[in-house]
Amino acid sequence: MNYRTFLIKYAEIGVKGKNRYLFEDRLCDRIRYALRRCDGEFEVTKSQGRIYVNADGDYDFDETVENLKTVFGVTGICPVVQLEDEGFEKLCGDVIRYIDEVYPDKHITFKVEARRARKNYPKSSMEINCDLGEAILNAFPEIRVDVHKPDMLLRVEIRERINVYSVVIPGPGGLPVGTNGKGTLLLSGGIDSPVAGYMIAKRGVTIDAVYFSAPPYTSERATQKVKDLAKIVSKYSGTINLHIINFTDIQLYIYDKCPHDELTIIMRRYMMRIAQEIAKKTGSLGLITGESIGQVASQTMQSLLATNDVCTLPVYRPLIGMDKQEIVEISEKIDTYETSILPYEDCCTIFVAKHPVTKPNLNVIRVHENNLDEKIDALVQTALDTDEVVEISW
Ligand code: ATP
Ligand code: MG
Repeated sequence: MNYRTFLIKYAEIGVKGKNRYLFEDRLCDRIRYALRRCDGEFEVTKSQGRIYVNADGDYDFDETVENLKTVFGVTGICPVVQLEDEGFEKLCGDVIRYIDEVYPDKHITFKVEARRARKNYPKSSMEINCDLGEAILNAFPEIRVDVHKPDMLLRVEIRERINVYSVVIPGPGGLPVGTNGKGTLLLSGGIDSPVAGYMIAKRGVTIDAVYFSAPPYTSERATQKVKDLAKIVSKYSGTINLHIINFTDIQLYIYDKCPHDELTIIMRRYMMRIAQEIAKKTGSLGLITGESIGQVASQTMQSLLATNDVCTLPVYRPLIGMDKQEIVEISEKIDTYETSILPYEDCCTIFVAKHPVTKPNLNVIRVHENNLDEKIDALVQTALDTDEVVEISW
């Protein structure tokens, strides 16, 4: 079938009144943005509470669908045939041709579901269902009706023109990016944080990211891996401003001054502090991490309490209740997994203690942090001043 048009379905729950227009306009923008990666020219229009994507000329169907599947807010992508209203006889003929082409094997069940958005059509929805159903049964002897679980649910929408479709390709759901403020993702090269960024972007949040590198202990390849991960996430989230922070001197200084079993926690507290400064400066409304309770020593409830202690912004941890396997499944789905498992060193693993505390005492941590004196503030300031920002998009 040579489709010219896609009908885009989106969930409207909670999107009422003025917000609805903002939501729809934003969704159209995001669709246009995703389609700029495709061959071909497209027009994205809103009409009577529906969003349509029209192809002007040649385009690649599969590529177009793949890109539409990256747009949060889209719940379904329906390749649709749009017909002029030239009488019911003509409609029957066109629908029969449509079925013939889209369903080469006619050993299927079907149901017609007509809707009239235009009430001056000469037949009621019920009459369309019955009469069109009968025409289909007459045309294809093998086909059967099943009103409960049909293989083909044929939608016929009587509008200005008539929409005919039966294929609904699932979209990612969520809310269009840009409808819910901005968050700052602490992005490492691991499996978890890219997934966390994806999940928050899915709620309509624009994402910035911060990566802490520790040259020469971490390599340029490790940084490149994080850029590659940000790039994959940006396929869904749109452009990501990635802040690369040189964390080496801070880590070495902490290593020098603090008990080694508390190293990870104190380091994590400095990461949060720095990320928070960047977030505030760039208008982010919260931090995002890939933490999950109990996954490692630095993610026990006690450790999370100690890390969270330095944050005044909310910290969003979308993976908090997930098992590793569940996180891996999402990372495979969004295509970050293969990159995440590349074996490059991370700053946390290089300075990690043999036996890190699993139940840090917040008061003790605070006391030990005092050993760091003013020099740490200067190091933090230098790290912020030498922040390298890279704009990353798919
Ligand atoms: P991930 O798979 O995301 O690396 P992890 O299981 O390795 O997570 P940790 O190393 O304890 O867990 O890190 C917890 C969270 O802290 C990460 O999900 C990420 O949000 C943040 N983080 C850790 N290391 C870095 C880093 N080098 N740069 C930026 N953020 C980091
Ligand atoms: Mg990690």
